Amino acid sequence: MNLQERDKAVNWHPYTQMKTANDTIPIVRGKGVHLYDNEGKQYIDAVSSWWVTLHGHAHPYIAQRVSEQLNTLEQVIFAGFTHEPAIQLSENLLQLLPNNQQKVFYSDNGSTAVEVALKMCIQFCYNKGKEKTKILAFKNAYHGDTFGAMSVSGRSVWTKPFGEMLFEVIFIDTPTSENLESIKNQIKNCADEIACFIYEPLIQGAAGMLMYEAQNLDELMKFCREQEILMVQDEVFTGFGRTGKLFAANHLSENPDIMCFSKGLTGGTLPMGITTCSNEIYNAFLSDDKYKTLFHGHSFTANPLSCTAALASMELLLNEETQNNIQRISEQHFQFSAILKQHSNVENVRQTGTILAWEFKNDQGTSYFNEIGKMLYDEFLSRGIIMRPLGNVMYLVPPYCITSEELNFIYKNILEVLDRFKIEEETNASFNQKFV
Ligand SMILES: *Cc1c(COP(=O)(O)O)cnc(C)c1O
Repeated sequence: MNLQERDKAVNWHPYTQMKTANDTIPIVRGKGVHLYDNEGKQYIDAVSSWWVTLHGHAHPYIAQRVSEQLNTLEQVIFAGFTHEPAIQLSENLLQLLPNNQQKVFYSDNGSTAVEVALKMCIQFCYNKGKEKTKILAFKNAYHGDTFGAMSVSGRSVWTKPFGEMLFEVIFIDTPTSENLESIKNQIKNCADEIACFIYEPLIQGAAGMLMYEAQNLDELMKFCREQEILMVQDEVFTGFGRTGKLFAANHLSENPDIMCFSKGLTGGTLPMGITTCSNEIYNAFLSDDKYKTLFHGHSFTANPLSCTAALASMELLLNEETQNNIQRISEQHFQFSAILKQHSNVENVRQTGTILAWEFKNDQGTSYFNEIGKMLYDEFLSRGIIMRPLGNVMYLVPPYCITSEELNFIYKNILEVLDRFKIEEETNASFNQKFV
C-alpha cells in the first residue's frame, strides 16, 4: 500500500468529509516557506499551515533551541514545580502585552486557552458572589472546537449537531459607526447578567477573514468596561505580528481583562496555549477558601519544549529582519489589493497587515460549502501553492520569511486562476460537471 492508502485505512482528518475527500498529500519535509511531498513536489505554504507558522518550516534556530531543551528537561508536572523556560516566557510575553496583563496560565491550544478564559470569568463572578453567567459574543465568531469554545462561537453548520448542548450566549453584530448605539442598547438590557464579552479583535478569521474597525471595537470595549462586563480578547489568530503590529491590542486604546494566545505562539513549532489576565482577575481567586481555586490544568501545562520554542520564536519575531519582513509583506499586499480590486471576478478585497482576503464573485453566495472553494484549492495545489479558501473567500496568511519574489509568484498565479475561471464561467454547465 502507498502512503495515501495506509493513511486512509487508519487516519480520520480534521474538518474533512472522509467519504469524498481527495487523497491526502504525504509531506516528508519542510524548509522555510516550502513543504515537499513524497514525490519531491514543492509547495509554497501560503496559509502558514493553518495560520501557525511564523518563520518558516524546520527553522534551524528554533530546532536547535528545542533540541537542547529536549536533552535537558522535556516535561515536568507544573503543579508544585516550575522551570526557567516557563518563567522566562511569561516575563517576556507580559512585557509585550498591555500593562494590565500580569499573570500567565498555560494550556495546550487555542480552544483550551479560550476554555480557561471563560472559566476565569465565570468563576471570577462566582468568587465575588455575583450571579452572572451569560456571555456576550459576536455573530460569526470562531473561538475553537471544544464545548465551551464552540458555545461562544457563532452558530453554524459546525456547531449544529450540538446545538441543544451549548450554553447560553448573547450574540451581537460586529460594531460599525452606524450600529454601535443599537448594540449598546441590546447589551444594556441584560448587562447585569453578563459575565464577559469574548471577541476576535479586528479580524474574524474562520468566519472568512471578516474585518472591522479598531475604533468601533474601542467604543464597544469602553462601554463593556462601564457595564462591568469582563473582556476576553482572543488573539489566537491575530497575535504575534499577523495584523502588522505585534498584537491586535497594539491597534486598540482600551485594554481587555483577559487575553488568549496560541497558533503563532511557538512559531508554529509545537502546540501551546496561553491565557493571560489582570491582577484584578487573579486576586479574586486568592483565598483561604479552597473553593475559590481555579481547578483547571492539563497534563502538559507549560511543557518546557513548547515554552522554549515560544522563546526562540519570539526572539526571531522581535528582530529587525522579521519586523521589516512584516512591513514589506503588508506593503506588497496593499499594492496587490489595488490590482485585485480591478478584477471583475473579485469583490470585498480587504487587508489587515499580513492578512489579505477577497471574495470570488459567484452565484452560490458566501458559504463554507461553496464548491468554488474546492476547485480553487485543487487548482492552486496543482500550481504548487497551498491556499485553502473558506468557501468563496480566498486569503493569504504567509509565513514572514516569504520573499518578495515568492509573494509575486503567488500573486501572478492568483491573477491567472481568476482569469482562467472567468473564461470557464461562461460555460458554466460543463465547468460544474468537471469540478463538483
Ligand atoms: C484557531 C482559533 C482558535 C482555536 O485554536 P485551536 O488551537 O485550533 O484549538 C481559537 N480562536 C481563534 C480566534 C482561532 O483562530
